[in-house]
Amino acid sequence: MEKHSINKDKLKFVLKRSEEDIMTVAVKGVTFGDGNIKFIAGPCAVESKESILKIAELVKKDGADVLRGGAFKPRTSPYDFQGIGQKGLDYLAEAGEKFGLPTVSEITDKQMLPYFENIDVLQIGAKNMQNYELLKAVGRTDKPILLKRGFSNSIEELLLSAEYIANEGNCKIILCERGIRTFEKATRNTFDISAIALLKKISRLPVVADPSHATGVSELVAPVALAAAAVKVDGIMTEVHDEPSMALCDGEQALTPAEFKIMAEKAKEISRIVR
Ligand code: PEP
Ligand code: MN
Repeated sequence: MEKHSINKDKLKFVLKRSEEDIMTVAVKGVTFGDGNIKFIAGPCAVESKESILKIAELVKKDGADVLRGGAFKPRTSPYDFQGIGQKGLDYLAEAGEKFGLPTVSEITDKQMLPYFENIDVLQIGAKNMQNYELLKAVGRTDKPILLKRGFSNSIEELLLSAEYIANEGNCKIILCERGIRTFEKATRNTFDISAIALLKKISRLPVVADPSHATGVSELVAPVALAAAAVKVDGIMTEVHDEPSMALCDGEQALTPAEFKIMAEKAKEISRIVR
């Protein structure tokens, strides 16, 4: 009898068959799930070519493995900055290429797939975790997928969404815990650390933590990132901006490159201790 209450009947692919049954996901030369913690860093949104080139250079120097940046931003309000669209993907790809960083960006519609040709990892955002047509479409590509947990979705539902992708043939899936919605309003979301511990126990897939969207408060990002490292997360994704107060979105939760560097160094140490 399992002590947790995940219904295993419909989970054909994502569950571990044995303790050794671990899948790694390689993105260019960066392997998630290989036992060494990885760092995804970059702005919430690609704001301009100059800005993403500058941030890419800084985060590369400070220990990032993968460069992030949204081009199509699914914002809660239609009046908020929506991202710069297709050219944002081109700038992100150029910055990644220049500084030797694989790239990840969020796709919100399957019709946009051609725009993502030069992006290495397709992100499915929290708001689209149950967009099943999108999941099936990215499941028919051969690009790694960063699948974020919806803010009102259970762990079982996250795993079922991963099944949708795998069922189409794409097994290169990285799960992401980014906080869930609770009664608590003091932080942007409530970081579900037990979800990471449980996913690492039962699932074969690498797991990444996003303490930026989980907390919404830059001062809380590093401590929560370190907590994720302590439960053996495979990677940490943080929003980083060279001038957080000027960011076009999510500046209040962005780390400076210097803060990112310190967090990453500490997280690596913790990760080594717990392995
Ligand atoms: C993001 O990572 O840019 C993002 C929008 O996050 P989420 O989908 O978790 O809200
Ligand atoms: Mn953001």
